[in-house]
Amino acid sequence: MASDIYLDANATSPVLPSAIAAAVEAMEAQFGNPSSSHATGLRARRILDTTRARARRVLGAGPGRVLFTSGATEGIQTAVLSALVAVRERRAAGEDCGDLLVYGATEHKAVSESLAHWNRLLGTGLTLLALPVDAAGRHRLDVLRDLAPRAAMVCTMAANNETGAISDLDGIARVLRESGSKAYWMVDCVQALGKLPLDLANTRIDYAPFSGHKLHAPKGIGILYVRDGAPYTPLMIGGGQEGGQRSGTENMAGIAALGAVLAALEEGTTFRGHAELAAMRDRLAATLRDAFPAIVFNAPFEHTLPTTLNFAVPGVSSKDLLDLFDAAGVRVSAGSACSAAKAAPSYVLDAMGLPLWRSGGAVRLSIGPLADDAFVDAACARIRHCGEALRASRFKDGSPGVMQVSGDGRYGWIVFDATTCVVIDPPRDQLERIAALARDAGLRVLDVDVADHATVELDDGSHAPCIVIGGAVLARLPDGWLLGDADAGHLRRTAVRHVFGAVDAGRLARVAHDGAVICHGADVDGLAWATPRARDGGTAGQLHQDTLDVFLRRHEDALLVDVREAFEAAAGPMVLHGRAARNVPLSRLAEHVAGWLAEPARPIVFVCRSGNRSAKAATLLRRAGHAQAWTVVGGLALA
Ligand code: PLP
Repeated sequence: MASDIYLDANATSPVLPSAIAAAVEAMEAQFGNPSSSHATGLRARRILDTTRARARRVLGAGPGRVLFTSGATEGIQTAVLSALVAVRERRAAGEDCGDLLVYGATEHKAVSESLAHWNRLLGTGLTLLALPVDAAGRHRLDVLRDLAPRAAMVCTMAANNETGAISDLDGIARVLRESGSKAYWMVDCVQALGKLPLDLANTRIDYAPFSGHKLHAPKGIGILYVRDGAPYTPLMIGGGQEGGQRSGTENMAGIAALGAVLAALEEGTTFRGHAELAAMRDRLAATLRDAFPAIVFNAPFEHTLPTTLNFAVPGVSSKDLLDLFDAAGVRVSAGSACSAAKAAPSYVLDAMGLPLWRSGGAVRLSIGPLADDAFVDAACARIRHCGEALRASRFKDGSPGVMQVSGDGRYGWIVFDATTCVVIDPPRDQLERIAALARDAGLRVLDVDVADHATVELDDGSHAPCIVIGGAVLARLPDGWLLGDADAGHLRRTAVRHVFGAVDAGRLARVAHDGAVICHGADVDGLAWATPRARDGGTAGQLHQDTLDVFLRRHEDALLVDVREAFEAAAGPMVLHGRAARNVPLSRLAEHVAGWLAEPARPIVFVCRSGNRSAKAATLLRRAGHAQAWTVVGGLALA
């Protein structure tokens, strides 16, 4: 596989080489404690002072405070704590400070969660209110105008991490000024550093948190700007570092590295400017449009950072797109990295009023200001390859093929050949997707009622209406379907390959043998399919990365099976220890199981991207009675 193309810069960024060098220097040679009065300490203090001075200039901090924190989340806590403590004191002195904590509906969770947390802990009893945004993700200034007189604090980010939407900070400042609001104003500037001009002291902003790792410094270092005169309460008290405003021995490696990034920003030749980044964004967007012609961009480019693209492709879930990109070595994310583990639609896109298919199907592609033309060329080539791979049909091979479709906690089954398919009990939320898949593959979807014209005789003497598909017959029972090979109009028990639906057990025993694969409409004992003969073969065998090589050498006959989707395999075929894996997607396992069970001694090693799908496949096979089914723990990602 070719090297990674990292297009997830809004989640985090690689550390600038000069920042790595500065961090190493701070750990190796300049390792002193900046609070020490000896020469080693003084040399460390110089790094601290130089970095702070640079930060002041880059942020336009004027006489405001510039404090080093562990990152933006800490900066946000400190700002919220400072503002709420001040509100509490002013209220105790009889002042009316308003009753609302207003935050943009698309703020990072660190903001809304901090507001709720400190409001509860300090007993300030204010009401949290999300300020709505428009379809472009920009704050509704008309609503703010109404709320501002009642706001004790207002939190609005400079640019959104999921969409890149740039806030109208001048407009917000105007509304606050014109409404005579005394609210403290925090602006989360995490995504702005290096991408938007900053001149903080000349604004009304009281607090502005920053995070180093979003702009090529390491994780664990950030900055908090506090306007001169804005209230301040330390979050951490102790040894009095940072002038008593943030105790704890300073993260000197992080500060030195951040200093190198700030130096690069000041010097001005390392990072690309707005126009260059916008040209790169336009090339990426044009390539995405070519690769996925139905693509929709979720935020208008005129109001977004040129480094962020957020899009959806109708009929393709964000999970499928992420898997596709990942297989091609392109790292993108669905919304924010913090919510990547939750499969929920993006609350940011929901707040912009986008329909569910766009918020649930969203993919974020973000570049950093270090990107250059060669990088964008490579990214575009890989995106084109992803577009081609997506068109690789899921309905390959199979005579007939059997594919599982999951949705709504249920399973439907598609039986298909080269020209036709029959869809059995599809989950309702998958109807459109199935129709799109069949259309893209050029398959005619047979209406089973219209298609009922032939019949086959079954072993219980009954006759069942049937469809001929892929040389086999699909026979309809009162409570399900049988798929098998008929001989002279007779579908014998022993020739039944698959049973679909909850067929009555007595009938099942008369019309199918105990080696047939029973495909369920919902999990039965945690399984989507099983064989009646199945005995519990125990849990899936686990192969760890360090033992895989030895295992494969010892078992030369082992079958290596890539259970990712066909488009993932097309985007990045799987070769492990010099052996190419055969692609059988998890959704097509039921089709292949009979053949594998016929060779019970031959090990089957399942592999996928992360080890999740392969663990499911190995469990299904073991439970079906195959004692030699294995999963590769950690999957291809760790190989
Ligand atoms: N705010 C925004 C807009 C972010 O994108 C992030 C990072 O995901 C944060 C806050 C939190 O930053 P940190 O990781 O430095 O705590």
